[in-house]
Amino acid sequence: MSRDPDCIFCRIVSGEIPCHKVYENEHGLAFLDVGPLADGHLLWIPREHVVALDDLTESQAADLCRPLPRLGRAMRDVLPAEGYNVLQNNGRVAGQEVMHLHFHLIPRTQGDGLGYRWHPGRYGPGRAEALVAALGGALGG
Ligand code: AMP
Ligand code: ZN
Repeated sequence: MSRDPDCIFCRIVSGEIPCHKVYENEHGLAFLDVGPLADGHLLWIPREHVVALDDLTESQAADLCRPLPRLGRAMRDVLPAEGYNVLQNNGRVAGQEVMHLHFHLIPRTQGDGLGYRWHPGRYGPGRAEALVAALGGALGG
């Protein structure tokens, strides 16, 4: 199992640094974010040290993501949350501060005041077609 001794989440996985764990399986663990955006804000992380989602194979991603519905259900049933955001940052430019892959599960309630900038744009002439050709080509679709 790959591990980075300088990585804070690897040190949580090994038990070297304590956390408030709520769930674990052979692939990962869920614990309370130390700086919660909302009561019950969870992090779901792989046991292995990987940095970004695209470092995983499809099979590893499937194994890792399998408990996400269960974690979401617990939020709705127990907290209770009316909804939740699953947020997963890849790369510093995307807001990733801990370079060990993690999913945020952030409980949401009406009027909680949480939000983020979301200003939709528009594609200029030919851009959507160019993107379909480039991304679709790379994806073999
Ligand atoms: P990100 O910006 O997506 O990399 O988020 C990293 C998250 O890890 C932040 O929400 C931090 O509050 C959280 N975090 C950092 N260290 C710890 C820790 N020791 N225990 C729990 N959560 C942590
Ligand atoms: Zn790590």
